[in-house]
Amino acid sequence: MKILEYLQNYDGKPLRFMEVCGTHTAEIHRNGIPALLPPSIELVSGPGCPVCVTVSAYIDRLIELGMDPKNCIVTFGDMLRVPGSSISLSEARAKGCSVRMVYSPMDALKLAKEDPEHVYIFAAVGFETTTPVYALLVQEALEQGVKNLRLLTSLKVMPPAIDWICAHNFPDAYSAGEISDPARGQIFRGNRESGRIHGFLAPGHVSVITGSRAFVPLAEKYGLPFVVAGFEGEEILAAIAALVKLQGQGRVLNMYPSAVTEEGNTAAQERVDRFFEPCDAAWRGIGVIADSGRKLRKEYEAFDAGSAELMEDTGGNPACRCAQVLMGRIRPRECPLFGKVCTPQTPQGACMVSTEGSCFSCWQSEGL
Ligand code: SF4
Repeated sequence: MKILEYLQNYDGKPLRFMEVCGTHTAEIHRNGIPALLPPSIELVSGPGCPVCVTVSAYIDRLIELGMDPKNCIVTFGDMLRVPGSSISLSEARAKGCSVRMVYSPMDALKLAKEDPEHVYIFAAVGFETTTPVYALLVQEALEQGVKNLRLLTSLKVMPPAIDWICAHNFPDAYSAGEISDPARGQIFRGNRESGRIHGFLAPGHVSVITGSRAFVPLAEKYGLPFVVAGFEGEEILAAIAALVKLQGQGRVLNMYPSAVTEEGNTAAQERVDRFFEPCDAAWRGIGVIADSGRKLRKEYEAFDAGSAELMEDTGGNPACRCAQVLMGRIRPRECPLFGKVCTPQTPQGACMVSTEGSCFSCWQSEGL
């Protein structure tokens, strides 16, 4: 395969690329891509898993709301085991917190209609990809006159987070020492001393909604290449090869044209803009990033379960290094808890819970 040959024969300066899509993270590990790359090309994961970047205060608030007998929390399954500052939703359920797991946000509408005596609060977590579905949910609730449905939002948009990462392009180095990496059968080396990111695999699903043009200002501002990639192993490898070739160029290349256009899904963008407006948002491990979130507009505040105050990220296992993992500063196995205290069965941080989390993906593909 020519692309693989090209990458494996690469002998230029060490390069480090970040993927910022949880599905890319999962597929990169599932396809064993780190092991296919030469030591001088390294991939790190960014804050691309929506569950992983949700702050502990959000989980705490869900638990608080679910403990009120008049409420029921509705959520996707992967939110259940995310640690809050002390316990997860799943543990809270054992203590009487009312929680229903669903597969679609629209299921919350059905639950609310069937049981008007209770308030159903959907844990609305996600990026640009899922926000249009929440907009549709509010629209349907409005049109059907459903008044016992709320959203507790922790909605994020990706470009401001990438901007933050570029602006903080890892000035501080890693902890010293060698770390074994079974995926490559070697010790980490390459460009970890500088820790700089040299390009991004732009998030595929997010780009479907935003369009590839969403990353042009970032590419130009920081002089870094962004490649929009599909999700097959070959597509990811081709995108990595393109990033290598685009070194030194601040431009965006769309290598997923079957799903991503330059302008994106404008109908979805308009629906989101009707119901949501920009707001500051807190990212687990990073902190508050200006205009990186979406909240319900004032005219739809009747559907808001009180999302505005969720800016803190406290508690949890103090040794968990999700923050550094989410910023691409360390690999999961550099966390001292990885595979020891923290496993998918006993997650200590959000990155080990979600199937799109870096720690979970690393554990699944490489083990301890
Ligand atoms: Fe957190 Fe576990 Fe990942 Fe360590 S291995 S960073 S404790 S989720």
